[in-house]
Amino acid sequence: MFAPIDYDILIIGGGMVGASLACALGNTALRIGIIEAVPFNASAQAQPSYDDRTLALAYGSRRIFEGMGLWPALVGATTPIKKIHVSDRGHFGVTHIDCADEGVEALGYVVVSRTLGQTLMQALHALPHVDLICPAQLTNITTSTDHAQVIVDQNGEQRTLTARLVVAADGGKSAVREQLKIPTRTWDYHQTAIITNITPQHPHNNIAYERFTSTGPIAMLPMSDNRCAVVWTVASNQADAVMRLTDEAFLAGLQNAFGHRLGRLQKTGMRHAYPLVLTRALEHVRPHLAVIGNAAHTLHPIAGQGFNLGLRDAAALAQVIVEAQRAGHDIGSLDVLNHYAAWRRADQIRAIAFTDSLVRVFTNPLAPFALGRNLGLLAVDLLPPLKHLLARQTMGLVGKLPRLARGLGL
Ligand SMILES: Cc1cc2nc3c(=O)[nH]c(=O)nc-3n(C[C@H](O)[C@H](O)[C@H](O)COP(=O)(O)OP(=O)(O)OC[C@H]3O[C@@H](n4cnc5c(N)ncnc54)[C@H](O)[C@@H]3O)c2cc1C
Repeated sequence: MFAPIDYDILIIGGGMVGASLACALGNTALRIGIIEAVPFNASAQAQPSYDDRTLALAYGSRRIFEGMGLWPALVGATTPIKKIHVSDRGHFGVTHIDCADEGVEALGYVVVSRTLGQTLMQALHALPHVDLICPAQLTNITTSTDHAQVIVDQNGEQRTLTARLVVAADGGKSAVREQLKIPTRTWDYHQTAIITNITPQHPHNNIAYERFTSTGPIAMLPMSDNRCAVVWTVASNQADAVMRLTDEAFLAGLQNAFGHRLGRLQKTGMRHAYPLVLTRALEHVRPHLAVIGNAAHTLHPIAGQGFNLGLRDAAALAQVIVEAQRAGHDIGSLDVLNHYAAWRRADQIRAIAFTDSLVRVFTNPLAPFALGRNLGLLAVDLLPPLKHLLARQTMGLVGKLPRLARGLGL
């Protein structure tokens, strides 16, 4: 006699992407377990997914949360992005994207990741078929012909759990990837993102600014109370010095790099630093295993694509699982999972190429590059089809979209 399988799906990592997948599948009859190492209520510094980072949610991600029924709970905590302004410090190129030209009420929405986490956790706790196993840490995983088995450490005790499908959503340093020796390609940008909030002198008018400088890009995202969320990318060997600056010196340095579009930058909050790498897992599926979110691809935050891409992974995987289940197929079979991986490949490659080429082109100091990229910015501004394409990529609306991203239920 075979032992019964504990779960249909075990999700390793209850961060933004893993928790979103569980919420997407929450109203099905599938038995779902989420193994999360750090309690949600841990301090913002300790919980790696739901920290003080501010996220730009693409318009397409709003649609996915609508499809999942979570948007009404989230919308009150978001600030809409009506326009995006892209510029290159010290050069002439500028591009503007306007939600009115795209026929949408906003190009995206800014939310603090901890607030997004609260919404996801509240939704998870209300789902009868979902067990949140936390704090618990994956220590071992094996796959066999008909299931996957994981060993987790929960309060010092080892628990063995089985599932028809294990989903690795355990972030950029994925333990699942390491245990199963899934090969990766990693590129160190030697850049560090420093995040904080500032209050500018002038109203932000719901405009998001992306400004490229010779040391790395600066994103300035609109928030409530006329604050702006700042992601300032600096060379990693400068990061410690920037982190140690007094608030006054930090504001002066940021003002110098960003310019005066928002008037004087007057007040700043706590700073946090994130070293930046590009990591790509070379396999995203194996029998009874799928790898999604940052575990599959960790991107530079330059264009705010990382979580949006991971959320589309979750929405597509949820759809493939539900369709396979309805058709009576094994949700962990390689055929089913290959369908998911093939579907997602183009979107993932596009997002990686988009962010990576932005970083490389805009940090290249050579004069021909600077001229080329500024002509490129102008061309985008002057050619509506090109601008529309850039806007669709930024809004997460390119390629074959999952049902949830079209605002439909599963
Ligand atoms: C500065 C910065 C700004 C960003 N801005 C944006 C933005 O504007 N828009 C956007 O779309 N994206 C943005 N991103 C990217 C976004 O933060 C990530 O893409 C997103 O956090 C990925 O979510 P995830 O759930 O895949 O991984 P994570 O957020 O890393 O979550 C992984 C989870 O797995 C858990 N875990 C890890 N190992 C184990 C284990 N062994 N056992 C159990 N649990 C485990 C962790 O505790 C964690 O909760 C930004 C990133 C940075 C660094």
